[in-house]
Amino acid sequence: MKRILVTGGAGFIGSHLCERLLDDGHDIICLDNFFTGTKDNIIHLMDNHHFELIRHDITREIFLEVDEIYNLACPASPIHYQYNPIKTVKTSVMGAINMLGMAKRIKAKIMQASTSEVYGDPQVHPQKEDYWGHVNPIGRRSCYDEGKRCAETLFMDYHYQNKVRIKIVRIFNTYGPRMMPNDGRVVSNFIVQALQNQPITIYGDGSQTRSFQYIDDLIEGMLGFMETGDDITGPINMGNEREFSIRELADLVVELTNSRSKLSFMPLPENDPVQRQPDTTYAKELLGWEARTALRDGLVKTIAYFDSLLKGSS
Ligand code: NAD
Ligand code: UDP
Repeated sequence: MKRILVTGGAGFIGSHLCERLLDDGHDIICLDNFFTGTKDNIIHLMDNHHFELIRHDITREIFLEVDEIYNLACPASPIHYQYNPIKTVKTSVMGAINMLGMAKRIKAKIMQASTSEVYGDPQVHPQKEDYWGHVNPIGRRSCYDEGKRCAETLFMDYHYQNKVRIKIVRIFNTYGPRMMPNDGRVVSNFIVQALQNQPITIYGDGSQTRSFQYIDDLIEGMLGFMETGDDITGPINMGNEREFSIRELADLVVELTNSRSKLSFMPLPENDPVQRQPDTTYAKELLGWEARTALRDGLVKTIAYFDSLLKGSS
């Protein structure tokens, strides 16, 4: 049994990770400031004596003793990370420094939840780990993109300089139960709109693409990657290789919800990437891992979650 810290553990991905690590028999410390996370995501874990919750902000230092750290704390949806962009940079950069400092002190292994956003609006397609990206340093998305890029730099430098055992995962668009209904990301928006027969808000003409990974696939990949040897640092892409246009996603959600919603086309946000698709050859070779859940199957499960959530709140 290991003692494992999950920062951002009350968020969408973090809560699934806490649950899975508890199931695997570990002691979990979940740290969160509840900016976008909620106690509802982890309430079912609270009675477990191997689960502890700490309300804390990772921009401030903290002293804990653990074997492993998963650093997930950071708002991930554009509306949330742009709400207070300075705080987003602080969370990524100062949060990384605090967590890396702790990992160094206690010799813990630490994984960073990085993002496909480090590739920006990519000019190489699909994106491989050795692509340096195409990022606007002064746009509305920069607080997140550059914050996460700087966090990767810090992880590598703590590894080079202090031999900290690090793992960097570049996560591509991930969806599933426990996304917030008001999260603003495309999958949750479309499902909530479709279930309420409200217009489906397509930004731009919907030809921009994303690759959607179901949460269970990501968790499997992250756990496998954490187990690799200390010489393996990443970055490693984790995402589903099947690429969809936003228009295709809208049509599929409408079909699966039997919705009467109509499509409503709205302005495209600044610097919205035109296309995004991971090349996951490295993860396949290293871990024998790939995101296998088909979008249709993952959406069915996610729709069932939002359906019961909305019925419960009405
Ligand atoms: P989320 O918003 O649901 O979870 C983030 C969690 O971090 C929340 O519980 C929030 O309250 C907490 N948090 C934010 N700032 C904090 C701070 N300063 N101190 C302590 N806690 C803080 O988002 P998510 O989708 O679960 O994303 C988790 C991580 O994965 C993030 O780092 C995100 O950048 C990364 N990621 C997610 C995706 C995706 O598609 N979901 C894609 C790429 C990367
Ligand atoms: N999007 C959309 N309608 C929405 C929310 C998002 O058309 O209601 C688009 C958005 O412009 C982007 C894509 O869906 O092109 C994915 O957006 P999301 O915020 O989920 O993630 P990210 O842009 O960070 O990949």
